[in-house]
Amino acid sequence: MSDCKFCGLLASGDLATKLPNLVLETPVAVVAINRRPLGPGHLTLILKQHHARTSDFRDPQLAGIGDLIGRLAAVLERLHSPGRVAVIGDGKRSAHLHLHLIPELQDTPLDLGVVVADLNQGTRIPTLSEPDTAAAVRAIRGALHS
Ligand SMILES: [Zn+2]
Repeated sequence: MSDCKFCGLLASGDLATKLPNLVLETPVAVVAINRRPLGPGHLTLILKQHHARTSDFRDPQLAGIGDLIGRLAAVLERLHSPGRVAVIGDGKRSAHLHLHLIPELQDTPLDLGVVVADLNQGTRIPTLSEPDTAAAVRAIRGALHS
């Protein structure tokens, strides 16, 4: 869709240049460190195909996404030892479905209502510095390949 920020980003060319927080690209999805993390290592998984409605999903369009979510959650568990990794589907503000993988620290349970409200704020300002983002990207990439 021409007015979708994710479709615009995905169509813009070299993602590694456009997204310094890019962790991984697959044929169906892009994964990036969230620059305004709601937990340590917060990842955003953006499906490449625009889906404005959940009812639009079909297995062939999501090929490998389940496995990718499991691999990413395993990496976050290894790096951050969370109590769990929450997976939240989003798309309200951007109308392009994407998933957030948010490690929940063992002593700091996530309030999912607050998390969803926070994710849908119109003016989310990055709070993760560029060096911290680069370090998080290196850690996730290294763990994915070890
Ligand atoms: Zn889109």
